[in-house]
Amino acid sequence: MSVRTRFAPSPTGYLHIGGARTALFNYLFARRHGGQYLLRIEDTDRQRSTQEAVQQILDSLEWLGLTPDEPPVFQSTREPRHAEVARELLARGRAYLAYDTPEELAAMRAAAEAQKRPFKYDGSRWMTLDPKDAPSVPPAIRIKAPREGDTVVEDLVQGTVRVSNAELDDMIILRSDGAPTYLHAVVVDDHDMAITHVIRGDDHLTNTFRQCMVYDAMGWHRPRFAHVPLIHGADGAKLSKRHGAVGALEFRDQGFLPEAVCNYLLRLGWGHGDTEIISREDVLRIFDIADVGRAAARMDYAKLLHFNGVWLRQADDERLTKEVLARLAKHGVAFGTLGGDRVRMLMPDLKSRAKTLEDLASSAAFAAFEGPPPMDPKAKALLTEEAKARLADLARFLTDAPWERQDLDSWLRDYAEVKGVKLGQVAQPLRVALSGSTQSPPIDAVLWALGRTEAMDRILAAAE
Ligand code: GLU
Repeated sequence: MSVRTRFAPSPTGYLHIGGARTALFNYLFARRHGGQYLLRIEDTDRQRSTQEAVQQILDSLEWLGLTPDEPPVFQSTREPRHAEVARELLARGRAYLAYDTPEELAAMRAAAEAQKRPFKYDGSRWMTLDPKDAPSVPPAIRIKAPREGDTVVEDLVQGTVRVSNAELDDMIILRSDGAPTYLHAVVVDDHDMAITHVIRGDDHLTNTFRQCMVYDAMGWHRPRFAHVPLIHGADGAKLSKRHGAVGALEFRDQGFLPEAVCNYLLRLGWGHGDTEIISREDVLRIFDIADVGRAAARMDYAKLLHFNGVWLRQADDERLTKEVLARLAKHGVAFGTLGGDRVRMLMPDLKSRAKTLEDLASSAAFAAFEGPPPMDPKAKALLTEEAKARLADLARFLTDAPWERQDLDSWLRDYAEVKGVKLGQVAQPLRVALSGSTQSPPIDAVLWALGRTEAMDRILAAAE
């Protein structure tokens, strides 16, 4: 039987990176075993589900390279099928009609609370009810929970997990208004989608035992389960906004590369020796869900930033240039074709110092500008009379300099030697004039990428 996994987010908000990690594990597991990875949008909570959230989830998965293999299944469209299975369980005698009113249920709960015992629903009176004595209120369908023994799950991450059946109660599978309950719907969908492996957050572990009741009562084969730990903040609390970015698309907007985010999320609680930086191609050869640790993973933003820097340096210059130019345009920097070409020429140097695409865009802006770039105050302070005189002198000589990168480097050295000054005394005013900043890629690279005309314009403007 071919492996089939699914990622099943509820579209009540953006895709959180914890969800992204679950999606990644589902994707990797399915691919590793030559199977399929599916997406189910669990939109049965009509009040809280939005079309906008659905779109955000789809966009996030696409950005992360986790697009499902089949069109998404929308759980809400399957309600008739959920109801059908509930009625089948009823027909098989594995479920029964329960006529409790909300008031009666509240009274049962209150009684349990008064006696300080956990509430456990007792539907024995309905199970023996003669249909002609049925009250005239619409009934709910409740599944008959097993009364004896244990339910045991061999979880691929958590190991053997067991619950005594005495703790399970007859849960509602179809409400009196005809709406299926969530725990029932998930099982019917997973069965119909032929899911073989359910990989999800460990906050769903307790649900698993109740879901097993539906599988067992229908005589369906249970899937294998793998409950992966949630992501916590550095302080051990559940990851939330106050720790920093949590939405997958927030990371995109902050300038993270999807491969860096996926690599980091993978390494968070999944290990293969000491290898930190691992490509998707490589992980697909070795991924095993059993290598996911049981402890809650802790989000470390500094480490993610480090991963991003590593992946930026490995990324293709053409792709980075496109990303950077799009970001510059978004930030309102006006540039033409020449500006774009200059950014491309400097990319190998620029990317070696950047941690995010945003860093990269801000360090590349000077090259994209047409004409002298805005000057930062620290740079401006370096433009002393002496520095300006040096720039004016340089401009005179640079008109004849050879304009190749290596030649420019030796030309600058020779110039400094002839003038009897240190290279820094030449390079620093040049850097300020050309980039408007005290930091830039190597000065010979900057001169070369700007080209003689643009470089001369900037030098003369600063010398004035
Ligand atoms: N919809 C659930 C959630 O977003 C996931 C349920 C499941 O994976 O079974 O937490």
